[in-house]
Parts: sequence; C-alpha cells; structure tokens
Amino acid sequence: MRLSRFFLPVLKEAPSDIEIVSHRLMVRAGMIRQEAAGIYAWLPLGLIVLKKIEQIVREEMVRAGAIECLMPTLQLADLWRESGRYDDYGQEMLRITDRHERELLYGPTNEEMITEIFRAYVKSYKALPLNLFHIQWKFRDERRPRFGVMRGREFLMKDAYSFDVDEASARKAYNRMFVAYLNLFARMGLKAVPMRADTGPIGGDLSHEFIILADTGESQVFCHKDLIEMGAPGPDVDWDDLQGAVDRRTALYAATEEMHDETRFTAEVPEASRLSARGIEVGHIFYFGDKYSRPMKANITGPDGVDRPAQMGSYGVGVSRLVAGIIEASHDDSGIVWPDSVAPFGVALINLRPGDEACDAACEQAYAALAKAGKDPLYDDTDERPGGKFAKADLIGAPWQLVIGPKGLAEGAVELKRRATGEKQSVPLDAALTQLCG
Ligand code: ATP
Ligand code: MG
Repeated sequence: MRLSRFFLPVLKEAPSDIEIVSHRLMVRAGMIRQEAAGIYAWLPLGLIVLKKIEQIVREEMVRAGAIECLMPTLQLADLWRESGRYDDYGQEMLRITDRHERELLYGPTNEEMITEIFRAYVKSYKALPLNLFHIQWKFRDERRPRFGVMRGREFLMKDAYSFDVDEASARKAYNRMFVAYLNLFARMGLKAVPMRADTGPIGGDLSHEFIILADTGESQVFCHKDLIEMGAPGPDVDWDDLQGAVDRRTALYAATEEMHDETRFTAEVPEASRLSARGIEVGHIFYFGDKYSRPMKANITGPDGVDRPAQMGSYGVGVSRLVAGIIEASHDDSGIVWPDSVAPFGVALINLRPGDEACDAACEQAYAALAKAGKDPLYDDTDERPGGKFAKADLIGAPWQLVIGPKGLAEGAVELKRRATGEKQSVPLDAALTQLCG
C-alpha cells in the first residue's frame, strides 16, 4: 500500500477524555472512530488488524474440529422466550420491533439460535460430536461502555457451541476448546491464563475465563505465577487426549475475583509465587449441560435408543476486544508494537526524499520485492518531513521499518529498524531485502 493513496487519518493528540493507552493509540493511529457511545467505525488500518485476528481465531477453531457458519445479528424474541432468557437478560438486550409489530432483538449471544438450528436437523448421537461456530457482531447495551473497543456495545465475537451425547464427551469438547484458546492467544503474542470463572447468567458447572494481564484490566485476578510462562500446547498435541494438557494448567491456582478464595490461595500457592493483578478477559468457555437443550427440547437418541437433551457448551472470544488487548500488552511511548502475526503492515518503507531519483528507484525496488514476498509493505511516499514519517511509522507499529534516504544511498546503505527493540542496522538494500523477505 502506498501511503499517499491510503486512508490513514493519524492524529497528533487524542481527545483528553480517553482513559487507557490502547484506546488512545487506536484513535491516534486512525484505526477506529466512535460513532456513538460504545459503537465504532473500523477505519482501514483497524479493519486490517481485526481481520487478521479473526483469521487466527478461525484457523484454530477449525484445527480443533469446529465448523464455521454464520447466524444473523437479529433474532426473534420468541426464541428467547423458549429458554426463559428474554425477560432475564434485562436492559443489556437491545429490543427492536419491526413493521409487523414482531419483537426482535440484536443478539448479545447465540445459545438459543444455535440450539434451534441443532434441533431442526440432528436427532441421533451418530451425528455427534458437533461444534459449530461463527464470528459475528453482537450488541450488549452495556451500562458503562468504555475504554474504546475494549468494552463496546457493538462488538465482534467468535462464539462456538458444542453438542455431545453425554457429559464425558462434552468434557472432551470443552478440553479441545481450552487448548485451541491457548494456541490462538499464543499465536497473537499473548500470554493468556485460564482461570476458574463464575458461570454467571448462562449457568452450568465448568467454566474458565482466559485472562491477559494488564494494569488497565477491569477484573482483579489471582494466580500462581508459573501459569503466566507455561506457554501453549501448540498444534501438534494429541487432540483425542488433551486431559493431561488441561490438568497441568488447572492444577495451579488461578481464579477471577468472583471465584477467588483467599484461604485456598494462601494455602496452595507459596508466597513468592502468588500473583494478584489486573486482567482483561479475552475469552470465556462454559460447559452448561442441558441448560438450553432441555427447555428447548433439543433431544437426541443415544446408542441405547433413549432420547435425551444434548449436552452443550459455549465458547466465546472477544475478537474486537483483542485488538485493544494486544495493544495494551504491546506498546511503548512512541506507539503500537504489533506482534508479526497481527501486524497490519509487515514493513513501513520510508522514502526520506520523494522526487530524488535514486531514492524513488530504490524505494520502488524495495516496495515491489516486499509486496512480492507477501510482507504487506506500507510505503510512505508522501511529502511529509522525515520526523513526521518516523513518528507515524512508530505510532502504527509495523514490526520493521526500512528507511531509504539520499545520504545513505550515496554510501550504498539503507537503514533497517526493528520496531520492538529500536535496534537499527545500516546495510546495503539487497541485504535488507534478503533479511526481510527471507
Ligand atoms: P465481561 O465480563 O467483560 O462483561 P462477559 O463475561 O459478559 O464479559 P462473555 O459473555 O463471556 O462476556 O463473552 C465472550 C467474550 O466476548 C468475552 O470473553 C469478551 O472477550 C468479549 N466481550 C464481552 N463483552 C464485551 C464488550 N462489551 N465489548 C467487547 N468485548 C466483549
Ligand atoms: Mg465472560
């Protein structure tokens, strides 16, 4: 992408009422624009990152055996009356009436709808296990939308729903999501810790929230320090036997505020290993048995010929919240520092003197080579002064900067900077391109 033809409305200052760094940087870098409280337009730079995160989530869901579908944002109120949640959900639910006076709602989650789809088609245990997911916008009329896309009212969520014939098999489905979550957060450069969680209004008896640590997090969390560095199992695990991988991570104490038990915490965790910190919930998995399948009569016939409600779980990832979460975890005073896997551009290519023949030629050569190698270069070919170009490149956080100017070129050199460390090398253009393109 040539910056002169891109839409990147960068701001020098963010509005002073912005409270957290990720929100400030997203606004300054021209990633989002607030259209109403908790409702944002995704500008081109923000959308590229959102899509990259979405794609990582999708790939890890598919790897774990889940199948993608897409349910609508609008749902019938009657569907939610079947589960009893239409009245329970309260003011967070945005209720809408259409021209025929039919009551609709903008979905805050999809347990009812997926259960309705399931019961229409699946009657036998032979079709199970089944895990369906979608990545769709949700609306929750949050009492206090804040921190930008971190707590929006409209937000993008990946939600998966598993169906099994019995509890043993449902727990296997839960374990697959547990491991898939560890893997997908790790791919985004995040250290997400699964913590025992309250099952809240959705109910059930087994639930973990995946938390990343950040001072600006909204929840207080307590855990054994070793969990932070434990790492993800990776894609090459035995997907049919994940109990060991799950047990290793659930054996150590980790709980959110609602589930915290100070007596157990002090008894189970040596003082030096106790961590009490703020965290951001980026994912949440539940096993809730027949909470929806029973009232909604989503029954399946088991191997014994007897009908029973399907055993279900649901699994959410805050896709749009992750954009902010990753920035909270990875930024410095100059701006965002994207992990390579979600960076909107792989390389910021800076022409220090557009119009200079040698600079233009070298930049065009670099731009073509980087584009060909799939490095998504952003070529700053504008007339802005060098200081402004550097500041912009730092702000938007491409992992590499390739700086080409007349002085360097005269000596046969360009400058290659690693955004994360600030480390700079002065090397011939060919060497820089070999390093970047591999
Ligand atoms: P929270 O406790 O933060 O309000 P929740 O527990 O109500 O979240 P879930 O129903 O578990 O949310 O939704 C799954 C995921 O969707 C959460 O883990 C979170 O990452 C994301 N999410 C939930 N609410 C919001 C929101 N208002 N804005 C952005 N992302 C959200
Ligand atoms: Mg939750």
